[in-house]
Amino acid sequence: MREDFLHYLWRLARFDLRQLRTTEGEALTIQQFGTYNTDAGPDFDDARLRIGGLQWAGKVEIHVTSSEWHAHGHDDDPAYDGVILHVVLEEDEIIYRRDGSRIPCLELLHRIPPGVQATYWRLMHQADWVPCQPQLPSVTGPVRAIWLQRILAERLARKASGFTERLETVQRDWEEAFYHCIARAMGGKVNAQAMEMLARSVPLRVLLRHKHSLLQLEALLFGQSGLLPEREVGEDSYVTRLRQEYELLRVKHDLRPLPVTAWRFLRMRPNNFPTVRIAQLACLYYRSGQLFGKALAATGAKELEAMFVVSLSNYWRTHYRFGPAVAPSERKLGKATVQNILINAVAPAYFAYGQLREDERYRERAVTLLETLPPESNTVIAKWRKLGWSATSAGESQALLELKRQYCDPRRCTSCAVGCAILNRPEPGDASPLVVREPVRIYRAVG
Ligand code: SF4
Repeated sequence: MREDFLHYLWRLARFDLRQLRTTEGEALTIQQFGTYNTDAGPDFDDARLRIGGLQWAGKVEIHVTSSEWHAHGHDDDPAYDGVILHVVLEEDEIIYRRDGSRIPCLELLHRIPPGVQATYWRLMHQADWVPCQPQLPSVTGPVRAIWLQRILAERLARKASGFTERLETVQRDWEEAFYHCIARAMGGKVNAQAMEMLARSVPLRVLLRHKHSLLQLEALLFGQSGLLPEREVGEDSYVTRLRQEYELLRVKHDLRPLPVTAWRFLRMRPNNFPTVRIAQLACLYYRSGQLFGKALAATGAKELEAMFVVSLSNYWRTHYRFGPAVAPSERKLGKATVQNILINAVAPAYFAYGQLREDERYRERAVTLLETLPPESNTVIAKWRKLGWSATSAGESQALLELKRQYCDPRRCTSCAVGCAILNRPEPGDASPLVVREPVRIYRAVG
C-alpha cells in the first residue's frame, strides 16, 4: 500500500470513524482533519482533535508504518515538533518527539472499508492503458469537465514555470525567451531541442541587428546550425553568398556553430525538415522582430495564426535541404505547426506573463486560446477517444495529455477527481459522515 492512499483516506474521512482510539487506548475524536500540505513538512496542518479528554490543535503526519518516521528523517526536524497525531496503517514502533513526549498514533489497518481497499488495489494493479478504464464510463460529465479544467490550469502553470525559467536565463527579456520557445515549437517532437539550441546560439539582439537582410538572417541561422555545406564545385550562388555572409558575421559576433549531429532528418516529411524550419524562422523574424509584443496585442487565435504566415526566399521555395532543386511550392508553416506554436509557446507565455504581472486577464487568455483551438491529433488523444473521452478543443486535449502523464502513469489515482469519484462510491457498512457538533476549544496547542 502506498502512503498517498492513506492521505486520501484521511483527507476524505474514508475510514471507519466510530469509537476511535489511539494505540495507547485513549479515546480520539477528530474535529478537523486539517488542510492538506503538498509542500515540505507534515502532511496536514491545522487539525483539531480531542485525545483522552484534552483538546489538541496542530499537524498530522501520515506513514504506512510508524517506523518510517525515522526513515523519512523527522527525528531531528523541528518542523515535526508540532505533530499531534501520527496516522499509520500499522504501528510497528512507538514514536517520540524531540522533547521525549510520545506522539499519539492512530492505526487504520482495520478501519478501511473493504470495498474501498479492493477498488484501490485494482487501480494500483490493473494493467490497462488507463488503470480506471473499466470504471471510466461511469464517471459523470460534470466530474470530467471540472477535472479537465483543473488539470489544464495545472498544465499551463507547469509550462509557464518552464517559460519563467527561460526568462530568468535571458535577464527577463520577454522577446528573447519567446523567440527560444517559438524556435523550439517549430522543431516539433524530433528537432525541438536542436531548434532551441540554435536560437540560444544566435541571441535575438544579434539576429535583429541584421533584420534588414533576409540573406543575413539565413546566413546567421544556417551557419550556426552547422548545416551549411562545405564548398562544392558548381554549387548554387545562394549557398556561396550564405557562406560568405556567415563567415563575416561569425567573426563579428564571435559565434560558435552547433554540431551537425544535433539535427534529425530521418523518417521526416520533407516539409518538416529542419532546413525548412530554419528558413521559416528566418522569415518570421525578417517580417517582425517583436513577436511577443504582437502576440500580446493580438485579439484572438485568428490574429495569432496570421502572425505565422511566412513566405520563404526563392531558394527555399525550390529546396527542402541544400542540394538539387525540387518542384517549387510555398512551404508555409503547416496548420499543425502553427497550432503547436500557439499551444506550446504562446499560451504558456501568456500564462507566465499573467502570473508575473499578477494580471488574471492573461492567464484567462491562455485558457481561452486553448479552448478556441481544435483538439490535437496524436496517439494519446486517439486512445482517450476510444475510451469515450473525446477532446473537443486543444484545452481538453492538453488536459488529457497531462492527466495521462502526470496522474495515470504514476497512478496518482487518489489525487485525481476521477479516482476519488470511483473510490468514494458509498458501500454497505460505510461510516456515517463526520459531523462536528461541539464547539472547538483549544486546550493545548502544540507547535
Ligand atoms: S489517475 Fe484518474 S483517470 Fe488516471 S487511471 Fe487513475 S483514476 Fe483513472
